[in-house]
Amino acid sequence: MRRDGVPSAGSAGATDPGGRQGGASREASDDRRKGGETPLRASEAPLRVQRAGFVSLIGRPNSGKSTLLNRLVGEKLAIVSPRPQTTRNRITGIRNLAGAQVIFIDTPGLHAPTGKLGAFMRQTVERSLEDVDLVCVVADVTEPRHPDPETLAMLRDHRGAAYCVLNKIDRLRSKARLLPLIEAWRAPGRFREIVPVSALTGANCDRLLASIVDVLPEHPPFFPADATSDQPETFYVAEMIREKIFALTHEEVPYATAVRVEELAERTTPQALYIRASIFVERDSQKGILIGQAGGMLKRIGTAARHDLESFFGIKVYLALTVQVRRQWRKDDRALREFGFLMTS
Ligand code: GDP
Ligand code: MG
Repeated sequence: MRRDGVPSAGSAGATDPGGRQGGASREASDDRRKGGETPLRASEAPLRVQRAGFVSLIGRPNSGKSTLLNRLVGEKLAIVSPRPQTTRNRITGIRNLAGAQVIFIDTPGLHAPTGKLGAFMRQTVERSLEDVDLVCVVADVTEPRHPDPETLAMLRDHRGAAYCVLNKIDRLRSKARLLPLIEAWRAPGRFREIVPVSALTGANCDRLLASIVDVLPEHPPFFPADATSDQPETFYVAEMIREKIFALTHEEVPYATAVRVEELAERTTPQALYIRASIFVERDSQKGILIGQAGGMLKRIGTAARHDLESFFGIKVYLALTVQVRRQWRKDDRALREFGFLMTS
């Protein structure tokens, strides 16, 4: 992604009263359409139907929602972890196609922790079901129950169109095993389509994308065509650092971690991105683990994050990380807001 391809929080990322980022521009384009402003000149007339809409991905933790989002958007946006519940914030990715714009919403898993952070995560899931054009329920074919009642229950309050995405088909030993699974998920009669995919290998993901576009309403794009996300880029920097902490540390440490980007500046001579970020933990012992012997752990986290950030931004990155203790931040409203975990409305 080009750095300038990400709209800043002040533009497309404006938060509407319903709390959805980008909602403001959605209304703006609705108005434009209704108001029937300046008619298009012949040379500007669209050659084909333009579609645009919002799609949310829901499903159990670890079913592969973030992997699928990254696959469908074609950029590394959501953090992926073999452990559940690493996606705390709502993440949207935008896929621009000829004639269509698909805006994806990734959600945290349903088994959110309790307390304030848990409440935030549940609220994010509920909001992601409001006012979307399509819900894609992602189910892991390696799980034992089909259909999984808890996954079906997530759709209880959603009246609109839903697809069932049967993910991880690369892990099935034979194709023949897929048919009974498709039948099982078809049985409740809730899904307009059942699409088997592998988010990991990309198998059948193009077909899924084409089916998604089919159900989107006719609408002009909500975001500029070069946008791939409506989140400010500091959010991705923080998420990528958090992903490395998840990969390299264990037990309670990653869950007690928040990352705040203090500075993100592009300098020209030599051309590079300078990033300064603080990692917050709840206890001194966690701080010790994150820093590691002779700073070794923090160095590994920084190197791994810098590597990903350089390929994400396509520019050399200097990354300075510090670790601070903020006792009980997960129970502290002010800290949660500061770290971006509280809704503004
Ligand atoms: P989420 O919690 O639903 O967002 O799940 P993630 O996208 O973080 O994925 C959880 C784990 O499943 C990760 O280890 C992924 O690499 C893995 N995974 C996701 N999709 C697939 C797939 O299609 N095939 C296989 N074999 N693994 C997958
Ligand atoms: Mg996820």
